[in-house]
Amino acid sequence: MEDYIVSARKYRPTTFQSVVGQKSLTTTLKNAIRNNKLAHAYLFCGPRGVGKTTCARIFAKTINCFNPTPEGDACNACESCVAFNEQRSYNIHELDAASNNSVDDIRSLIEQVRIPPQIGKYKVYIIDEVHMLSQSAFNAFLKTLEEPPHHAIFVLATTEKHKILPTILSRCQIYDFSRISINDMVDHLEYVARQEGVTAEKEALNVIAQKADGGMRDALSIFDQVVSFTGGNITYKAVIENLNVLDYEYYFKILDAILQDKVGNSMLILSEILEKGFDGQHIISGLASFFRDLLVAKDPQTIVLFEVGDAVKDKYLNFAARCDNKFLYKAIELSNTCDLNYRASRNKRLLSELLLIQLCQLNSPEENDEEDKKKTVIKSIAADTTVFEQPKTTVPTQQTPISSSAVTQNPQPAVKAVPKNVMSVSLKNPAGHQEEKKPDVAKQTQLDIVTPFSPLDLHEAWRRYAETLSEKIHLKNTMLNNLPALKENYRIEVLVYNPQQEQALKDEIISLAEFLRKELKNTSIIIDVSITEENTKKLAYTDKEKFELLVSKNESLSSLVKEFKLRLD
Ligand SMILES: [Zn+2]
Repeated sequence: MEDYIVSARKYRPTTFQSVVGQKSLTTTLKNAIRNNKLAHAYLFCGPRGVGKTTCARIFAKTINCFNPTPEGDACNACESCVAFNEQRSYNIHELDAASNNSVDDIRSLIEQVRIPPQIGKYKVYIIDEVHMLSQSAFNAFLKTLEEPPHHAIFVLATTEKHKILPTILSRCQIYDFSRISINDMVDHLEYVARQEGVTAEKEALNVIAQKADGGMRDALSIFDQVVSFTGGNITYKAVIENLNVLDYEYYFKILDAILQDKVGNSMLILSEILEKGFDGQHIISGLASFFRDLLVAKDPQTIVLFEVGDAVKDKYLNFAARCDNKFLYKAIELSNTCDLNYRASRNKRLLSELLLIQLCQLNSPEENDEEDKKKTVIKSIAADTTVFEQPKTTVPTQQTPISSSAVTQNPQPAVKAVPKNVMSVSLKNPAGHQEEKKPDVAKQTQLDIVTPFSPLDLHEAWRRYAETLSEKIHLKNTMLNNLPALKENYRIEVLVYNPQQEQALKDEIISLAEFLRKELKNTSIIIDVSITEENTKKLAYTDKEKFELLVSKNESLSSLVKEFKLRLD
């Protein structure tokens, strides 16, 4: 390993064919060369390390090649190509504008532009980080760019396209380089590893690619670092230690604890990770992604989105088989909410632990027992179709289903108490929601079907209904923009912004409630519509209110009032 050459340099592509992850762009360039449609100026934009300069060099070599291949690649054998490959061609000039950005630098470049090439057809001038040129250098350069000699081609490269003057942009053919995908990077790293006689686990290369965030050059330099650290045997374990990446094994351990309802264990694992110096939010967002990956792994159709080595894939598959979809939906939702609240939280550790407790509860036996009970009740009703068909009619004539609370704390006795053929209307609970805690068998609705559902299920059904409202476009938008919250006892709370929206929703509420009850197989659903508290406060009617509203937006107003002794009448 003594004469180790930096991989980023050694494996710099020498043909368009070997450029990683920029297929459509290199194809366009090749076509332009093949059809002899060359522009005098190109602008290559894109993040660092994605192949801008490399492509510029290949481009310069290719257009000077004496024997280009039919596909439009350089032959790499002719005099010109060899000179290029040995970095002694006079037909390519590179200027790094980050360090040479003065007028003098540009002037000496312009001097050279006049001299035609001795061999080959074109002289190519690559100006890297062109946005760094000083204003006067830019101006000096612009003249040359306007009237270049026919043998001169400029390739300007930049990571910050928005800083390029419009006068320059309008004179260039623009190529946008994209970030390189993880898969493309892993493939290329595998190739480099093979060439170097280095063994590498796919998961390890995956971690490197993720760490490099779309830049091949970074990926290769991390690769080199890991090679020297591991002595040529790149394992997942070595990589995460060397790069300080959180081991996904921890997530499997946490999930295992959750699935066994071992809150304490999951907290100990969290504590272990935190002690290793990982950031709490990083752990939480990682956990959310982990649940998402499990969901992806569950479905044979989406598993292709999931590019890891076989050993890890098996592990995901095994764990995914232990989780039902509902658990995963809720787990993603809970961890995502925790992630969103993390920054604002004062006790971040507690918030993280609370998440673990909630996750454990999703799977705790008591929870399941309760659900099972509900399920059996539903089943027994569902089995008898004459009964099952009827719930729609239980609230047929009520003007305000908002108040039609169907109390279903404990549906079992209710179902037993009532003969099937009594299709009674659901009873009102005049005392409102306060009494719901104390289920009263006599007051209970006889034909309740109470299938538990998640807020996600609710949102989906809600959207489906909204999509049917093509005639009532305002209401549709109101519904899509104001997703309901699921409260206790299947009460659904919708907050809207103004009285018009409130009225429109209330006018729709009977059929909406009926729809949701049917879709979610839950007759207990009731809908509450109200205007957000924020807005009821913020609607300013009087001058004083208007003034206060303005002050809340700009505090200095009140000092102005004091200063100038103003008052409102
Ligand atoms: Zn050649």
